Amino acid sequence: MAFNQLAKDRPRLLIVGGGYVGFTLAQKLQTRIKESGGVVTVVDPNPYMTYLPFLPEVSAGNIEARSAVIPHRQHLADCELITGRVESIDHANRTVTVHGIDEGPEFELTYDEIVLAGGSNTRTFPIPGLADKAIGMKTIEEAVSVRNWVLERIEVASLTNDEDEKRKALTFIVVGGGYAGSETIAELEDMARSAVQRNDLLKVSDLRFVLVEAMGRIMPEVSEDRAEKVVAEMRARGIEVLLNTSLSEVDGDLVKLINMQDKSPAGEMATDTLIWTAGVQAASFAKNSDLPIDDRGRVRVGADLRVTGNDGPFEGAWAAGDIAAVPDLTGAGPGGFCVPNAQHAVRQAATMAKNIMAAHKGEPLEDYYHENLGSVAGLGLYKGAATIRGIDLGGLPAWAMHRLYHGYAIPTVERKVRVFTEWGVNLLFGRDTTPLRHLRDPRRAFQKAAGADVPAEKASL
Ligand SMILES: Cc1cc2nc3c(=O)[nH]c(=O)nc-3n(C[C@H](O)[C@H](O)[C@H](O)COP(=O)(O)OP(=O)(O)OC[C@H]3O[C@@H](n4cnc5c(N)ncnc54)[C@H](O)[C@@H]3O)c2cc1C
Repeated sequence: MAFNQLAKDRPRLLIVGGGYVGFTLAQKLQTRIKESGGVVTVVDPNPYMTYLPFLPEVSAGNIEARSAVIPHRQHLADCELITGRVESIDHANRTVTVHGIDEGPEFELTYDEIVLAGGSNTRTFPIPGLADKAIGMKTIEEAVSVRNWVLERIEVASLTNDEDEKRKALTFIVVGGGYAGSETIAELEDMARSAVQRNDLLKVSDLRFVLVEAMGRIMPEVSEDRAEKVVAEMRARGIEVLLNTSLSEVDGDLVKLINMQDKSPAGEMATDTLIWTAGVQAASFAKNSDLPIDDRGRVRVGADLRVTGNDGPFEGAWAAGDIAAVPDLTGAGPGGFCVPNAQHAVRQAATMAKNIMAAHKGEPLEDYYHENLGSVAGLGLYKGAATIRGIDLGGLPAWAMHRLYHGYAIPTVERKVRVFTEWGVNLLFGRDTTPLRHLRDPRRAFQKAAGADVPAEKASL
């Protein structure tokens, strides 16, 4: 379908972003709105929703990449789907500018109502050299690349006679001790340990995993007591956990650390692998709009999830999830707002679906209210941490809760079956530690075969 074939004569509910909020909302409303003569249009540069809590498990090879994403065309069949990026919003004229992916066309799309559900991007700081060296853990591609890269570094290290090169290849640094960073380092350590145990040329003690966290604790999602136990368990596994520490500079392969309390140098280490998971910020496209944004770049909404400025709600504009500053009526959220997590995102989508239908019927809207249920985190095979309704769990029970919860929570029966099957296969036959090489440069073999002048391989993530 070319863009000039998009629906013109039906009232359009435009959802910008098909992630947690957008996908859940579209699933709930697509058939109802179609049957009432309207259309739900979802615009997203990815033709799928990414189940982000599974990225650490994808990076450790427990789950195949495609099983951690939910394809829009398969599961949002009653929606109009546009694989593109919204660049700007002119709400006064109910129009957005969309850019098709890659070299796709740029065109304007009109709507009756808009939902801003664009989520967040990785937040970085102006640390010299960081952009040249590090990789995030926010997309499925990053998770897949990290898996192959870590396993490839192990192969490289096993053949070198240069001790410095070997140490560098086997030093893996993760910055950010939230659930994304803690799960990533713990899952990667577990995978690397399995890979090294299958390699006679290396010892597990050759591996060096370092978690760098600027605050005095990790995992604010679980209780302080549980977080301290996680740190102790990580350290017992040989993972170095550096609290009150951040990066001052990345000079090529050399990562320089700084003590966040007195700003003194806190050592340096050479590494091939630097993974940055230290926070997120609201997706930036909302800034190119006439809708109200707060000082952190989030769309301002009322508790009923309507976009709301100083003069009250904007007619026909809604926002939720990581992109929005949603008031936390329980009073628990920092600054009075909901923290950006999936637990809120799916529930906000459910409230919004009800409110959009209620608004159409002229009925009163509901305020979003959700008390935190707790958190679960997987920290490698049979290891985990959880705080559920105030009850702390660790080890095997927390790991089992993590798998049960996320196996249940990933949308669609079809994806649940894939994920549970892959977990089962891995438990039965052991972890698959094969790196897939040349994913970054897949034409290399053909170019060489065709006699092209192929430059020497360059190792970089
Ligand atoms: C590694 C990791 C682990 C996590 N683990 C947990 C966990 O265990 N528990 C938990 O509660 N939360 C977890 N979270 C947080 C949770 O995933 C997010 O809070 C949640 O995804 C937010 O939902 P959302 O719909 O706002 O954004 P997203 O799910 O990120 O969806 C946003 C969508 O908008 C699209 N988009 C972006 N820009 C545009 C544009 N210009 N035009 C159109 N579309 C656009 C994106 O492609 C994306 O599909 C984790 C996050 C990460 C990164």
